[in-house]
Amino acid sequence: MISIEHINKWYGDFQVLTDCTADISKGEVVVVCGPSGSGKSTLIKCVNALEPFQEGRIIVDGISVGDPQTDLPLLRSRIGMVFQNFELFPHLSITENLMLAQQRVLGRSADEARDTGLKLLDRVGLKVQAAKFPGQLSGGQQQRVAIARALAMNPIAMLFDEPTSALDPEMVNEVLDVMTELAQEGMTMMCVTHEMGFARRVANRVIFMDKGHIEEDCSAVEFFGSPRGERAQHFLSKIL
Ligand code: ADP
Ligand code: MG
Repeated sequence: MISIEHINKWYGDFQVLTDCTADISKGEVVVVCGPSGSGKSTLIKCVNALEPFQEGRIIVDGISVGDPQTDLPLLRSRIGMVFQNFELFPHLSITENLMLAQQRVLGRSADEARDTGLKLLDRVGLKVQAAKFPGQLSGGQQQRVAIARALAMNPIAMLFDEPTSALDPEMVNEVLDVMTELAQEGMTMMCVTHEMGFARRVANRVIFMDKGHIEEDCSAVEFFGSPRGERAQHFLSKIL
């Protein structure tokens, strides 16, 4: 589903990604972890072309991300992305937030977009909040809206970049629960997260990054059982 092949990326003189290679199969849940600044966000932004890369190839469902011929809005619409800070449109109601891209990018009618949006809002337990604005919702609720909004586009895969890092502790689980359900329904997911409990319970694989390089790529069982590299061991010793 997602094939990342020998990606090298620089910001000016600084090499932020070095020879990153990973394959994510349909239905697989991969947790990406590693120290701050190790390139996790940059790597997943490359997957849906929010960041360009200079060398290597990324293929998502047969589409080459770096190819100038690729219809980027369409590609991005097929890969759901959820950020740390929700990124909802503050001036639009929750329903309007859910409808906008469906209408603009997929060309759905207002009725169809509203129906789809409300169904998904129901699925994340927020149907009663439909008429509110993002600022009237808690962080955990806003993040669940952001997930519903991404799902409304019928994505073939979902990317999460530290979706619970900005939340108060008591709201973390409501978001992780929605992510766990998605995983159980077979969604292909790449999740940057430090929630190692989630990784242990839900991930099929763990990718550990350090200094722009993929240092470990192994099953969750292996990673938590005996991370091979010293850096991963050090990382886990600090986080667990
Ligand atoms: P992580 O998500 O693992 O914390 P990032 O992918 O955000 O790491 O960043 C990796 C490195 O790239 C960091 O050293 C960061 O300072 C640098 N970086 C990120 N974005 C930019 C940018 N737009 N320009 C220059 N350097 C950047
Ligand atoms: Mg990051």
